[in-house]
Amino acid sequence: MMLPGTPDLAGRTVLVCGEARAARRAVARYRDAGAEVLTAVAPSDLAPSGVAPSDSTPAEAAPGRPTRPEVLDRVALVVVVRTGADDDGWGALAARCRERGILLVAEPAAASGGNVTLVGGGPGRADLLTVAARAALAQADVVFYDRLGPAGPDSVIPAAELVAALAPGADLVDVGKTPGHHKVPQGEIERQLVEAALAGRTVVRLKGGDPFVFGRGAEEVRACAEAGVPVTVLPGVTSAISVPGAVGVPVTHRGVSKLFTVASGHQPFSEDELEHLAGLGGTIVLLMGVGTLPQTTAGLLRHGLAPETPAVVIERGFCDTQRSTAAPLDRLALAAAEAKCSSPAVIVIGDVVASGDDWTRLAEEFGAGSGEGVRA
Ligand code: SAH
Repeated sequence: MMLPGTPDLAGRTVLVCGEARAARRAVARYRDAGAEVLTAVAPSDLAPSGVAPSDSTPAEAAPGRPTRPEVLDRVALVVVVRTGADDDGWGALAARCRERGILLVAEPAAASGGNVTLVGGGPGRADLLTVAARAALAQADVVFYDRLGPAGPDSVIPAAELVAALAPGADLVDVGKTPGHHKVPQGEIERQLVEAALAGRTVVRLKGGDPFVFGRGAEEVRACAEAGVPVTVLPGVTSAISVPGAVGVPVTHRGVSKLFTVASGHQPFSEDELEHLAGLGGTIVLLMGVGTLPQTTAGLLRHGLAPETPAVVIERGFCDTQRSTAAPLDRLALAAAEAKCSSPAVIVIGDVVASGDDWTRLAEEFGAGSGEGVRA
């Protein structure tokens, strides 16, 4: 799959110029796009005098490397990988490209030491990735991803295909988990991230939503830090706020709610927790809360939340099959059971649910999936 705006380079020749290690991402990416990739590690490789010094680079580090300047006769695109120096010697090549009308693009060098970037992938639509997330993916040597990445839980585009398009040339490792079935244990994910970075690779750990919202991101950061691996965290659009927004439900609304609490319903809440949640008086947002919904709603009612408090279950936000099931709190669990609501879903409880003028209409206008809505 090609990203929109990517030129079709199948069968064309691309010349990638730059030191082999710095240029490895560009080489992998253009190969992946179907181009025949030639490389030149030093300007002398393309000097009119012909052949590059044989000791400049081991052959395996510069696959397909041209040895004669005539190579420019057949290239469609020249890519110069910049290592930071202002005058890295490629200026004459740029002039020759201009003369011959050959397209030339410059791009930054791939990182030389191994590192890990935790990337927040947003809630299920590739266009909700941040610019920084896309850049990190484009530079990755290896991407560890799972089910709730930008492809979303039920995307028509398989997660692997989408990640491959965003990180062309990178090795892809699916460490996805399905509820109750841990494909790759957390400790093993951390071990693999660290191992890849210590081997000098640029590693991206792509996570759904924001890495620090129920994403175990902090555990991965700690594992890297303990191993001395440089680690960066790129925030993502969290489902906790964006999925309610996808159906027109604001988590705060002037005069209606001035606070929102995001809680995990993965385990049933204790009586103390239910009492506090019910007493807060703002919006309650539950993630991973479908399985425990009957206990949660019963507990909140027991601790004094009004039975008519508006509430909604939003499944598969931003996906083609996005669906909302709305009901007053005392009927929410029943409505969700009747509609066979399933994970992943965000549950919102509070007056904000009714404060949008008409959330089903807003959902349709937003264009996220069918915007199907059920009211009980
Ligand atoms: N880090 C993620 C949350 C991970 S916990 C974030 O910031 O969004 C996984 C839970 O997130 C799911 O069980 C579900 O409650 C919620 N979730 C993630 N993506 C979702 C989506 N597209 N639609 C509805 N809920 C989603």
